[in-house]
Amino acid sequence: MDFGILLKKIKEYDTIAIFGHIRPDGDCYGSLNGLKNIIMTTFPTKRVFCLTSHVESLTFLGKMDDVTDDEIFTNALGIVCDTSTRERIADKRYKLCKELIKVDHHIVIDNYGNYNFVDENIPATSLLICRFFFTYPEELKMTSIGANALYTGTITDTSNFRYRGVNLETFTYAGKLVELGADVEYIDHNLSCESLRTTKLKTFVYRTLKVTKNGVAYAKLTKTIINHYNVTYDEAASLVTLLSNIKECPVWILFIGYPKEVRVRIRSNGPDINMLAEAYGGGGHQKAAGASLKSWFKVRNFVKDSDELVRCYKQNIPYKIGKKEV
Ligand code: AMP
Repeated sequence: MDFGILLKKIKEYDTIAIFGHIRPDGDCYGSLNGLKNIIMTTFPTKRVFCLTSHVESLTFLGKMDDVTDDEIFTNALGIVCDTSTRERIADKRYKLCKELIKVDHHIVIDNYGNYNFVDENIPATSLLICRFFFTYPEELKMTSIGANALYTGTITDTSNFRYRGVNLETFTYAGKLVELGADVEYIDHNLSCESLRTTKLKTFVYRTLKVTKNGVAYAKLTKTIINHYNVTYDEAASLVTLLSNIKECPVWILFIGYPKEVRVRIRSNGPDINMLAEAYGGGGHQKAAGASLKSWFKVRNFVKDSDELVRCYKQNIPYKIGKKEV
């Protein structure tokens, strides 16, 4: 991957807007804040903004910028990180930018940038930012703030180095980030701490989790339940991990009732699930995907199709969703 044009464009522009996806996660916050730190440390006179929604639990990496003047974008370079399609870019003002660059690690569906830096095999966009950074060791600079951000993005998207995409490059960059000041204990503390209300909601998830005939574990957190436990939607959504690692269940799903949709978080340690998510208008990776359903009525079908996917997987036969064979 030749990062020459990325560095050239960063040098060319005085104003750079870095965009992330809707419902940002650790890798989104990590890659945005990491890249911002690299640019601002190396080129202190440039104006750099990070733009996606605010997530309280990730603000230890840096806050998103509040840009009210749209004029700023007209002469800006836009860099979109960790976002597979243009529909998922949280701040639509990316359209106003003079040029757009995509930096991502999701399966390519939409090359919306004027320049696209995509590696589908790297386990985190934060690692792609590291690859860019370490390509120019003499030129680019980063402080411990950037190192914390990129290290966080790396461990959140690899679930602490637990996925197969993790390789020598991952550990090399992780080590280099620690050398640059990433504080692993500080990061772990911030990622692991949860509210007492969330702890209480966990017992609800364990009490109500269901398992389908072929082994899909799932739980539903409706708006009423979320309000009752007085947790944020993000706190509720984070509980998908509770359903993981059940021996009989290679696929697990958490359905979360957001104000205007039901968010689906689906995970697998068996069959690929991205095609299933795509069939419902969503997307993602082979083992971690998601979708937004219009109503709870659709949940039933989603569970049914997931169960069929697991049946086919266990019997080693192809799975068809719609006209597609998976
Ligand atoms: P999440 O469960 O939100 O962590 O999402 C897991 C993966 O699925 C991420 O890579 C997301 O980008 C992707 N994803 C989640 N929801 C959607 C959606 N509605 N449309 C497309 N991709 C999604």
